[in-house]
Amino acid sequence: MWQLDEIFKDLTVVAIPTRTSFRGINLREAALFRGPAGWSEFAPFIEYNSAEAEAWLWAALEGAYKPWPMLNRKAIGINATLPKVEINRVNEILNRFPGAKTVKIKVDDFEKDSELVEAALDFNPDFKVRLDVNGGWDLKAALLNLYNYHLRFGNVFEYIEQPVLNISDLKELKKEIPMKIAIDESIRKALSSGFEDVNTYADVAIIKWAPSGGMTRANKLIEKIGLPAVISSALDTGIGISHGLALAASQENLDFDCGLATLSLLESDVVTPAIEIIDGTILVNRVEPYEKLLAKYLVTTDRRIWWQERIEEIWEAGLGERWLNEQRN
Ligand SMILES: [Mg+2]
Repeated sequence: MWQLDEIFKDLTVVAIPTRTSFRGINLREAALFRGPAGWSEFAPFIEYNSAEAEAWLWAALEGAYKPWPMLNRKAIGINATLPKVEINRVNEILNRFPGAKTVKIKVDDFEKDSELVEAALDFNPDFKVRLDVNGGWDLKAALLNLYNYHLRFGNVFEYIEQPVLNISDLKELKKEIPMKIAIDESIRKALSSGFEDVNTYADVAIIKWAPSGGMTRANKLIEKIGLPAVISSALDTGIGISHGLALAASQENLDFDCGLATLSLLESDVVTPAIEIIDGTILVNRVEPYEKLLAKYLVTTDRRIWWQERIEEIWEAGLGERWLNEQRN
């Protein structure tokens, strides 16, 4: 018997193909399990090491064992997400986000990707546009690219997400550009930092349920950073998404559409009731896996064992003891 059988007795690992290559991923694996509060999801990306994946396991356990906090809204406005695709696929992809008023576009440089922005605005001229650079530019490239984007498209940009990685570069950039700056990697890779002078380099905080360590830690993080938050997901199944939706719904202030419609990038979800985008919003509900879909996307025994070992390694490195201690208190 697997030593963590008690906690993870329903552990089910699925692999769902993505519709387009996203972060270089074509197959998304996720470990699902159930606790007294409902279903939860543990799905750090395959390449993450144990230290990086630890917060994800804490989030997953909390999601299975603790009820959601009080929710301040029943539905969450979402943004469409446009990965780097051939231009002739843009409409097909954006049609999967019915009624979205905001689009987030993954970009490299202006030369290559301005046509994606163009195509998105052809699809919906009223889109608020977010560019996500994933920290891919240095300061000089950021200044040049954003100058060109601004010149070509004017004030369509809601914000630029992580244009550069370095905090000192973000500070320089913020003084120079007319657009707002959102930070994502600057938060995820520095969860324990104080964010004291965050106002000098960012306007918006991207917060994700699993990488932040779950509901309680994410809400503390939002409070610590003190910027308007955009709750986003990490290509989760509907189980993980439901927790992200609850995190968004628990906010007192939610001024921006959230990045919680990434299910549209997967070939299928595995939950019931199905998570649907209606008029640019998604309803907040606890969801459960649907047997037939679980069976369809179930992984091989090899992959299941890989995930069990991954959980075990993180558990034994100290998380297990901390988790059990917290349950006793
Ligand atoms: Mg991002």
